[in-house]
Amino acid sequence: MSGVVRDWRVELVEAYPDLFHPVGDPPAAQGWPEVGDGWRDLLERACARIRAAVQANGGSFQATQIKEKFGTLRFYWDGSLSPEASVRVEEAIDLAEARSACTCELCGEEGRLYRSGSWLMTRCAQHAKGRPVETGPGLDNVHIVERIVGKRRDIRCRRYDRSTDSFVDVDPRTLGIEEQ
Ligand SMILES: [Zn+2]
Repeated sequence: MSGVVRDWRVELVEAYPDLFHPVGDPPAAQGWPEVGDGWRDLLERACARIRAAVQANGGSFQATQIKEKFGTLRFYWDGSLSPEASVRVEEAIDLAEARSACTCELCGEEGRLYRSGSWLMTRCAQHAKGRPVETGPGLDNVHIVERIVGKRRDIRCRRYDRSTDSFVDVDPRTLGIEEQ
């Protein structure tokens, strides 16, 4: 026993070789998690969900980049999956990205978006710098997915519920967003 505290990123990458495809010792991986300690839990949840989707399908998956951008998680991947498995993987990543938007990247407590100069960050009140970034009325944790279907604009609104780690559909009309 070396007594050295192992970084959670090493443990995550080694726990999910099917997703990270690490090489070497100590391991290196293209999709090495470049995020703060507070997002460990949401990445573990995402990896468990992604593995379940990939194993159900028998396809391949490689995390290619995991980082913070504009205060929230970005999780990029490459692979070959069935359309059904791809949908499950994208849903797992959407959940992780939504959770990162309301979870302090430093400590994992509930947080929100702050701006300090040009720097955006998701932080709890204790770790915050700068000022909270205001969202519109009723828009906290709302994620709007817009698709063009033929000539129709299809808008789907979902609110991320942090307590259940799931999305709840929101009627766009209640947010003042009209479908066209
Ligand atoms: Zn914090």
